[in-house]
Amino acid sequence: LGLLKKQEISANPVNYDLFYTYVAGKNTALNEKLDEFLEGEKDWNHEEAKKLFQRFFYSQTECVLEDIRDELLRIVAHSLGSLIDIAGKTSVSNISLQHHVDKLAAASKPEDVLASVSMILNEARAFVTQSQKLEEELTDSSREISNLKSELENARNDAMIDALTGLYNRRGFNRAIGDIAPKCQNTKDCFTLMLVDLDYFKSINDNYGHLVGDKVLAAFAKTLRHNTRIEDYLARFGGEEFVIIMPGISLEQAKQMAEKIRKATMKLSLKVVPSNEWISNLTVSLGVAQYRDGETVESVIDRCDQALYAAKDSGRNCVMIN
Ligand code: GH3
Ligand code: MG
Ligand code: MG
Repeated sequence: LGLLKKQEISANPVNYDLFYTYVAGKNTALNEKLDEFLEGEKDWNHEEAKKLFQRFFYSQTECVLEDIRDELLRIVAHSLGSLIDIAGKTSVSNISLQHHVDKLAAASKPEDVLASVSMILNEARAFVTQSQKLEEELTDSSREISNLKSELENARNDAMIDALTGLYNRRGFNRAIGDIAPKCQNTKDCFTLMLVDLDYFKSINDNYGHLVGDKVLAAFAKTLRHNTRIEDYLARFGGEEFVIIMPGISLEQAKQMAEKIRKATMKLSLKVVPSNEWISNLTVSLGVAQYRDGETVESVIDRCDQALYAAKDSGRNCVMIN
């Protein structure tokens, strides 16, 4: 955030993710790209930022979805191929069947009648075999398709859920707020946004290690779940920062919910194994902002972020509204 501020870049979700990953130093290729900008070789603009974001954060998920789509196309093409093949053979059967029926009608000698009946039976048997084969192939295909459908569903969910906490991730949050905000025209108390950041979380990692830090994040996510409503969208915004979209409540009600979360966090305590030490005295700072009719999603996030900053500035463990 310091870097964003210094470069006078707004802290919208895309920029935040890019610069968060930059500072974390986890992606050399991304860092090289951002260095070009930071060294003054390029100007920052939203389109360029979006392209970088898509290139570095979305590619894996897109690959899975493309694989599944290709596989579905393969099955559909195969089923259609079998259908066309059997339909072709069936019309040939129809023609020769008719031929044998005509011959039967004209047959006067018993051996001719027997020959025609036997030919008709052969045609009928071939037809039944083809139909059974078609049925088996269609059953196989529909089984494969339904497996792929559930894989597709899982991939979609995975792409929107944060594995550590089970809450929505940044992508899920973007989708949810992108769906809700446009429906807010002329709606009073459409939604209120809340940013929640654990105070001095780095010291948990420093004192107990990163794995314990992860456990604390997962436990804190549970606290969030227990202290919000079913209709609220909870997401991990990044690191130890969480965001909640609260539809249909006033700023005052949201402030009360923020206070509830703040107090519940102070009561949280976790036992570290095997040392049996207790982690308690956790606190959070919260920023709250109500969406205003007509404003952009970036703007409400930005205002909420400013409120969170103000909460940190005034000593942490408190709620600020903007
Ligand atoms: P502040 O009160 O100003 O928010 O201080 P802070 O220490 O909470 O904030 P800071 O931004 O300095 O540090 C955040 C820390 O969160 C640093 C980083 O290692 C840790 N963190 C981020 N993501 C994860 C994660 O997935 N697991 C763990 N264990 N730690 C994480
Ligand atoms: Mg923090
Ligand atoms: Mg933070």
